[in-house]
This record gives sequence, C-alpha cells and structure tokens, in this order.
Amino acid sequence: MAIENRNLAVGTKLTAKYKTVSYGAEVVQTEEGVRYKLEDGREFKSLSSAGTAITGGPINGWAFWSVAGEEAQGQPAESKTETPKRSNGVIRRTPNQKGTPEGQVRYFCSACLDSFYAEAGEKPEACPKGHDESFGEMKSDVEAPEELADEAEELTTE
Ligand SMILES: [Zn+2]
Repeated sequence: MAIENRNLAVGTKLTAKYKTVSYGAEVVQTEEGVRYKLEDGREFKSLSSAGTAITGGPINGWAFWSVAGEEAQGQPAESKTETPKRSNGVIRRTPNQKGTPEGQVRYFCSACLDSFYAEAGEKPEACPKGHDESFGEMKSDVEAPEELADEAEELTTE
C-alpha cells in the first residue's frame, strides 16, 4: 500500500515487496538529517533511492514502500498515534545500532531530533545539548524535520 501520510516519524518501520521478497527499512535520524535505512545498513536520503537500491531501476518511493503494520489495517494510522510513547521518552536507545562504534550505544534525543553516542552500559541522563526527561512533558512527539517535506514535494513533480 502506498504511503499517504508523508510525515514519517523517525523510527517508522517500512516494508516493501519486490519479486516476492519482502524488504524492510526504517526512518532514522542521522547527523545529516533524516535517512531511510535498509536492513543491510545502507542509508538513503529518499525513499525512492532506497527502493531503487532494491529494484535496480527508478521507482516512486512513496508508492513502493508501505508503513509496516498499516497493510493489515487497510488505512493509514494517524502519525501521532503511530509513535508509541515510551517510559524513557526523550532520550531513547536507537533501535538500529548498525554503524555504532564499538563500546558505544547510539541514542536519539527527540527534543533536538538528533542522535548521539554514549558509552555502552550507561544510559545517558541527557543529550549533549542538555535535554533530559523533564523535556518530555513539553514535547513528546517526534515531528518530521522540514527536509523530509521538501523531499516529498520533489517526488510529486515527476
Ligand atoms: Zn537534545
């Protein structure tokens, strides 16, 4: 099913089927901005590039990918309810730790929408910019950065 809500939150899982094989990707936050990360660890700036890496030919990423879990429901869920609130809200361990230097753990701060590394074994109290759990009451939903919206426009003008 094509993606209708293009404001994909960081952490959104995507699936696609190509030649009977299922592929997965995840919306991740990197130092350079939002990226779409394939299961093999490759990161792409757009969903189309991520899809092209699979098909080997140009595709429309918004049509190629589906938000994981939405296929069964038949209609897109509200992006706000899609992001589960976790007890450790602001500073979260990034689900995908690929590319993280040894001995470190990658965390994501939903206040500054950026990821950072911390020593493995100790959960950081705050991000390098000083956001801690008290920030979570002010802002608990991760919003898609503007860069994502720009890309969406680009893709519609084919
Ligand atoms: Zn922060």
